[in-house]
Amino acid sequence: MKGHTHLLLAVLFGVLYFDYFIGGTTFWMKIGFAAMLIVGALLPDIDQEESSASHKSPWLSALVRSFSKHRGIMHSIWIPIIIFLIAKFLIVKYFHLPDLILMGFLIGYTSHLAGDAITKKGIVPLSPFSKFRIRGLMKTGGLAETIVGILIISFIIVH
Ligand SMILES: [Zn+2]
Repeated sequence: MKGHTHLLLAVLFGVLYFDYFIGGTTFWMKIGFAAMLIVGALLPDIDQEESSASHKSPWLSALVRSFSKHRGIMHSIWIPIIIFLIAKFLIVKYFHLPDLILMGFLIGYTSHLAGDAITKKGIVPLSPFSKFRIRGLMKTGGLAETIVGILIISFIIVH
């Protein structure tokens, strides 16, 4: 799935999360949530040289690519779980970071994995411990992805 479709999917997940789980919140909390949503939505593709995340952080991309292939561990459930545990029990607790910021990151990351899971290449959610793969029918950058993007934009506009 392309970077811009990942962003649209992340916005969709974020909007639905706000609808069902969050009441009133401040403007700055929403900005923080949105910023972390974007970071979470783009970060998994740091394992691919030609991606928005890799262009922003080439040194981090080179480091990740030294031990992981594209859609390897960065596209598994382990990275969001590890980041969640570190953030929840260290950063949120000791630096008083609001939970909502952490949720923005996790929702963005989860939306990325969900988006790649419906492509033909799919993801290996338990990599490197299992080769079990979840895949769909969508070709990355193909017509179906464009249609998904248009549907998401339409939903957000009429929402
Ligand atoms: Zn990806």
